[in-house]
Amino acid sequence: MSDHKNDCIFCKIANKEIPVPFEYEDSAVAAFNDKNPQAPVHILIVPKAHMPKINDAAEKDIRLLGQMLMAAKNIAAKRKISDSGYRLIINCGRDGGQLVEHLHIHLLGGRPLGWPPG
Ligand code: 5GP
Ligand code: ZN
Repeated sequence: MSDHKNDCIFCKIANKEIPVPFEYEDSAVAAFNDKNPQAPVHILIVPKAHMPKINDAAEKDIRLLGQMLMAAKNIAAKRKISDSGYRLIINCGRDGGQLVEHLHIHLLGGRPLGWPPG
């Protein structure tokens, strides 16, 4: 699997080919606002290296996955929604409603969120 897929929009954003302000960045992870926000806070946390789906994660990715979760938690604190609460979502595949095939965690908050999801 190549690190950077040419036709992948999240590869382009995460690797700064398309300039988008980052909410967070480290060596392996980038986070930016969703272009079609579903809540007052709606941020996408992505690996910089291309990984289509959570299905593709392997043992070697355990640290990366932890980094993504820690980034989500820290962004929630920075955006002051830690106490009010928030939701982290990974959509996977057709039934999961995944539209962009580059792994991402949705961080949603700033309003009460319904449950169960549709
Ligand atoms: P999925 O359904 O794959 O879990 O979610 C994809 C998300 O990516 C959607 O919430 C959609 O609004 C967002 N999105 C799609 N294309 C772009 C883009 O070019 N820029 C940004 N910032 N978000 C995008
Ligand atoms: Zn990609």
